[in-house]
Amino acid sequence: MEKHTQDLHFKFRFYGRNAREWMRKCVLMLPELERERVWEKKGFGSLAEYAGRLSGMSHKTVSDGLRILRTVEHMPDIMRVIEERGINCVKPIVTLLTPENQQFWAEKAMMMSQHALQMYRNESEHQSMISPAMPSLAMFREGALSKTINKQHEEAIYKINDMENAAAADVARDTVNISAMNAAHDVTNTSATDPSPKKIIGIELSASTLNRLTKLKGNDEWDTLMNELLDMREKMLGQNMPEEKQTESRHIPAEIKRFVIERSRGICEVGACAKRYNILHHTQRFAAEQTHDPSRIVALCTSHERLVHLGLIYDETIKPRAWKILSEPDKNDKKYAIDQMVQRYRKP
Ligand SMILES: [Zn+2]
Repeated sequence: MEKHTQDLHFKFRFYGRNAREWMRKCVLMLPELERERVWEKKGFGSLAEYAGRLSGMSHKTVSDGLRILRTVEHMPDIMRVIEERGINCVKPIVTLLTPENQQFWAEKAMMMSQHALQMYRNESEHQSMISPAMPSLAMFREGALSKTINKQHEEAIYKINDMENAAAADVARDTVNISAMNAAHDVTNTSATDPSPKKIIGIELSASTLNRLTKLKGNDEWDTLMNELLDMREKMLGQNMPEEKQTESRHIPAEIKRFVIERSRGICEVGACAKRYNILHHTQRFAAEQTHDPSRIVALCTSHERLVHLGLIYDETIKPRAWKILSEPDKNDKKYAIDQMVQRYRKP
């Protein structure tokens, strides 16, 4: 690159970094400025006006800043994250913080991007986290988590959308609605320990597709038919799976890449994640075993890849749709050492 371009770039990056740091310092002062009514004493109409005029801070930054800092003021570990990385880094977890769990979440916020942290929080609310050392995680499950477990059950009852082509498929539609009602009944009777409560969804199908599906279903549950179709797809993909390839090159052979993308349809394969995949990840780590094995390469979104490399996935050898997250990385896992090396080359 041309020297002048480089100079411009470095200078701007340097100023930008400093601007951010100073802004962080300003935000941290908000609660005290408010307590002392400094803005009023200096003749301003509000704290937002004062902060805006003096530092260029937006109204939203002021209100978010005040709200968050008031919540976490007495949580020293979280305050340290904010001082070092800014207030946005803790936004995804503010509502679940307590004095008891703040240390745990501060540690996570320190090493994750905002997106990865949000993802980790979501996962922790939809499944029980596993601890590498001891399975008891009562601390994190109390409070925020137990609340969300109840909410999850309420949300399990989805609304049935009005189906198009209703006239053409009256009979079939009735069947759908009846089984939907049965499923709704099941939902209300599901105990909190059922790992897979039934959910009702509305899907848009053409009349002919619906007819074919209804015939196939016969007297079985929709769930049975859908599982049969899914198993068939998996079996078919398994038969067409390209062979694994041993090579020095990290570059995934095109054929294997195509296969993994077809299997995942380009969507992150973890749990219910619906994000587009960003990386094809070797669950055994390519550095450990120079092999491209399509059954051990999974499509991951940026946030899930991040959780993997932070060592926060319990057992990567199982199908990613059943992956569980860890409360702490398992430091005895040999993948952990490799991931630590990867980390060193990356920023959160
Ligand atoms: Zn994902």
